[in-house]
Amino acid sequence: MSALIRPARLEIVGRPASPGLARGPVHILEETTVRDVHAGTSAQERTRLLEAIAAAAAEVADLIAGVDDEEAAAILEFQLAMLEDDALIADALPVIDGGAPALVAFQDAMADVAAGYRTGDDEYFQARASDIEDLAERVIAHLTGAETGAIELPPGGILLARDLTPSRFLSTDWSGGRAIALFEGSPTAHVAILARSRGVPMAVGFGTLKITGHAAALLDGETGRLVLSPDADDEAGHHALTASADEIRTVEQRLARRQAVTADGTPIKVMINAGDPGELDALDPALCDGIGLVRTEFLFHGRRGLPTEDDQLAAYRRILTWAEGRPVTFRTLDAGGDKPIAGLTREESNPFLGLRGIRLSLARPDVFRVQVRALLRAAAEGEMLVMAPMVALPAEMQAVTDLFVEEAAALRRAGLAHAIPPLGMMVEVPAVALTLDLFDVDFVSIGSNDLTQYVMAASRDATGLAGLDDAGVEAVQRMIRMVVSSGAELGVPVSLCGDAGSDTRVLPKLLAAGLRSISVAPAQVGRVKRVIADWRADGGPDG
Ligand code: PEP
Ligand code: MG
Repeated sequence: MSALIRPARLEIVGRPASPGLARGPVHILEETTVRDVHAGTSAQERTRLLEAIAAAAAEVADLIAGVDDEEAAAILEFQLAMLEDDALIADALPVIDGGAPALVAFQDAMADVAAGYRTGDDEYFQARASDIEDLAERVIAHLTGAETGAIELPPGGILLARDLTPSRFLSTDWSGGRAIALFEGSPTAHVAILARSRGVPMAVGFGTLKITGHAAALLDGETGRLVLSPDADDEAGHHALTASADEIRTVEQRLARRQAVTADGTPIKVMINAGDPGELDALDPALCDGIGLVRTEFLFHGRRGLPTEDDQLAAYRRILTWAEGRPVTFRTLDAGGDKPIAGLTREESNPFLGLRGIRLSLARPDVFRVQVRALLRAAAEGEMLVMAPMVALPAEMQAVTDLFVEEAAALRRAGLAHAIPPLGMMVEVPAVALTLDLFDVDFVSIGSNDLTQYVMAASRDATGLAGLDDAGVEAVQRMIRMVVSSGAELGVPVSLCGDAGSDTRVLPKLLAAGLRSISVAPAQVGRVKRVIADWRADGGPDG
């Protein structure tokens, strides 16, 4: 294109994936396919492949060591487990032995694996296809010298790409207003979860467009709108939006450290969800009324072998110390489903309906009892509660309670300080919402992420299910209202710790349902308190 011909303004709307406004130079991520056809001997090519895999695994292990949040660690752990599994190269080795270069054999084998995942019936495996491509890309880079590391984006730059791998996202500097627009992708993909937790504006699903020559763009991650080569009107509109977004942010920052109160004076407890204690170090505990969910899976990531009782006790203590006397709700291990843990969970045809959460803990009492003992010992030292994930039957909660009582007796015999904390459960399986009166629990917390997927039969990992995987739909809302009113009748406190609590569209419905306690990602506290401050029972938004 001649330098004098500037492309016309182009406005396209994709799907919002991470809120925020961005304005800056366009950076298109080119995809290169390098085919190194110069094969050495079979033995040399085998060695090259094994070395490339070992180098890729070392890089992923380094990335795991450098991240301090649960989502990123879980994504990378899955990749590391795959890289360390001999099955990864089982199909490539015979091809190499037949004379093919390592690159060709591996690239073709991985393309087959990823296609198998992507086209399978199972939504869980479909969502894993991008993780397979991610790790394959990393190995291939070692074989070819291609680029898979940090993307060099100018400050404020808007990255346009077909898709983006989680590990490449994690290697890149997104500070200074940088943002992402993907032609493919999904708001529930791992890279979108990471973008939201780090506040990087992102929109996805723009379709297969050929975009060339645009120097600058505007992106609105809240609406999914991308304007390439914006005109003066676009710039003015963007400026106004940014100014009002800045004002809103100032209000949110002011509200973040205050007790949340609705416009008609009802106090609402706003707690935070936490994973690795390292995440908490940068946060002021005054932000919240406590921690409503500690995802204890962090203990099992980035390590060889399972965490010991002492490892766990040290981590729980650190979190209780941070909370400075505010209540902390620890969730027992929720492995399985979208949270595989190498060496513990196993491959299942439908992991979301399989041996996950409390089902796995009860099936592995050797592992669960270690966690129970660490929790009992921590409970002697702070204000804490414990809840079990993925409960479906009263017998499961009874088994959990029995284990706590048995291990408390063992600790007493051993002369170790301990206390039995209040024991509750998450409401994630519709069976529990329907039969709350049959459970003997001290409290419940609604896990709206899983509750939504099970009410709507729509996997939380799937792409292309817009409208179904939505906690705002009436069926899910009725189930939430049912839990809130059963809890009130039974005298069982009800809270909510799924993403619905920070969805500004859904939160007013939750308040109208009678929820007075929610737990959200730390970055969302200000936003949530602002929505609460604007809400009134008789006529606020959705009131
Ligand atoms: C939920 O399911 O809503 C929840 C909070 O648990 P997780 O997202 O960890 O499965
Ligand atoms: Mg859940």
